[in-house]
Amino acid sequence: MHYHPPLKDISFVLFELFNAAQTLNRYPEFEEIDQDLMSQVIEEAGRFASEILFPTNAVGDREGCRFENGHVKTPTGFKQAYRQFQEAGWPALACDPAYGGQGLPHTLNTVLYEMLTGTNHAWSMFPGLLHGAYSSLYHYANDELKDVYLPKIVSGEWLATMCLTEPQAGSDLGLIRTKATPADNGHYILEGNKIFISGGEHDLTENIVHLVLARLPDAPPGSKGISLFLVPKFLPENGVPKVRNAVHCTGIEHKMGIHGSATCSIQFDQATGWLVGEPNKGLAAMFKMMNAARLLVGINGVGVSETVYQNALAYAKERIQMRAATRPENRHSEPADPIVMHPAIQRMLMSQKAYAEGGRMLAYYSALLLDGAEHHPDEQIKAHFESELALLTPIIKAMLTDQGFEAAGQAIQIFGGHGYIQETGIEQYLRDIKIAQIYEGTNEIQAIDLIMRKILADNGQRLFNLLDQIQETINTTTQPAFVNSVAALTQVCQHLRALIPAISDASRQSPDLPYQIAPEMLRLVGHAAMGWLWLKAATIADEQKEKDPAFYGSKIDTAQYYFDFILPETRQLIQVIDQYLIHSQQGHSTNYLDSLM
Ligand SMILES: Cc1cc2nc3c(=O)[nH]c(=O)nc-3n(C[C@H](O)[C@H](O)[C@H](O)COP(=O)(O)OP(=O)(O)OC[C@H]3O[C@@H](n4cnc5c(N)ncnc54)[C@H](O)[C@@H]3O)c2cc1C
Repeated sequence: MHYHPPLKDISFVLFELFNAAQTLNRYPEFEEIDQDLMSQVIEEAGRFASEILFPTNAVGDREGCRFENGHVKTPTGFKQAYRQFQEAGWPALACDPAYGGQGLPHTLNTVLYEMLTGTNHAWSMFPGLLHGAYSSLYHYANDELKDVYLPKIVSGEWLATMCLTEPQAGSDLGLIRTKATPADNGHYILEGNKIFISGGEHDLTENIVHLVLARLPDAPPGSKGISLFLVPKFLPENGVPKVRNAVHCTGIEHKMGIHGSATCSIQFDQATGWLVGEPNKGLAAMFKMMNAARLLVGINGVGVSETVYQNALAYAKERIQMRAATRPENRHSEPADPIVMHPAIQRMLMSQKAYAEGGRMLAYYSALLLDGAEHHPDEQIKAHFESELALLTPIIKAMLTDQGFEAAGQAIQIFGGHGYIQETGIEQYLRDIKIAQIYEGTNEIQAIDLIMRKILADNGQRLFNLLDQIQETINTTTQPAFVNSVAALTQVCQHLRALIPAISDASRQSPDLPYQIAPEMLRLVGHAAMGWLWLKAATIADEQKEKDPAFYGSKIDTAQYYFDFILPETRQLIQVIDQYLIHSQQGHSTNYLDSLM
């Protein structure tokens, strides 16, 4: 296995497609940003990921985390890699300089995490949660808490967790039972059990900051009665961890993948904690953390797609099996050809490439929206960015992780039997990436979030704004080579515009309907957004192709492949949605509970 940081494509997306340096540089906080600075950071990130982190990936999978006497030992090399990561200042990258951060854009952090998750998914989860904790505390904690905890989190001296899940409360956080009782000196006493807590215990840092969802004694039932608390492993005095708090790891899970990530059961046994934000408004504060985390989970899908594509391609060029239908002259005397010459293999590779590069465009576009939503000086534009980001977040999380899983499966297929056995190392990626479809809100929950909260709640307005932007690009695409791509994308957008009122009407009679078609809608909107960015990318590549025919030519080919052979998936998606609409209009039940009972 190997990993080459895809610096050329990253630069293309950031600087040619999105003009990222100039865009960011307009925000007062990013005055110092220019392309050189961004490129330097990205190259360094690529070096860390490929030279330091990547070598720990397979060993992390083999050894896994170990649980001994209440302590968790991470696999060989994890501690050293974390120390180097911390010393290089990577945890502080996108954090506020007021707390020791480097004040760089989220966009750069997104690029960093693409490479970290592509080289060691399990390890990347330890620092990955730090950013969500940072943004929750930064936006909701009082100054006292911020002054004590943020500098330690920003420097990476202390890592953080996100403690939501309990045995009876997974997707439904309204079922949480962990209790928080006010104590007389302003803090709270927490009691309860959490499960599946990533990084709940480990040997990477001297302290761990748990962000915990719990209920106050007089809390209303359900999700309206949940508050957020900060519970450190050690209670600090003057910035030094001193007294051991009553929060303990009672075990770690043995699981399908990400063996190097400690998935912990955590017991709060009258632990001391502090309220973050307002009582009973914990979910809002936690959502701040979860949205940042969801973008990072989506980029995980891109990171893995890139790594498995790189390795599948290299293997396909080397592995010789059977004669290809079309063979170059110089191979006529050879008994067999590299499998990359077989159309079936080419199709899998092109699909991996189109989604890895398409996912990268979508994820970086969203990261730029996040930076704009936080830093644009105009409040109206800020609100517009925030709204578009809210629409795209469930798509990034679900579609890109689905594609990561698909790409890892295709890579094993390309490796054949050699991919299924452990020796080559490719099967680890499939086992590891599966969890990304489940945690941070399962992909089914993401699809429901998209249709119910992001589309139907405002009668499709947010989506129509996105479709208007897509239409603008369509209107300005004049290259004859892209006529068919433009037509295909136009059709998807037209269908979407017509579907929203139809779904909205039908859901009044059939409350199940929007939930039934949620997965199709997520992919459909996802393809509209991805197709939009592919069209922009193809146009730029077409303008620049003389400069670097190999790179831009391949970009145009990949765009064409996406439009000709991937985007047609939308026809089937639309057909399925139409079937549900027809059933609903005709009063036919599409609830299959009876057949399943
Ligand atoms: C390795 C690992 C790491 C994790 N890390 C953390 C962590 O750091 N912190 C943390 O708090 N949690 C963590 N989790 C928990 C994770 O977020 C949950 O597993 C996830 O939210 C799903 O909850 P559940 O497992 O209880 O599944 P359930 O909620 O029981 O869901 C089961 C199935 O039903 C579906 N489903 C449920 N409700 C609906 C609905 N309304 N409509 C359609 N489908 C529905 C789901 O999509 C899923 O397919 C982790 C889990 C694992 C395995």
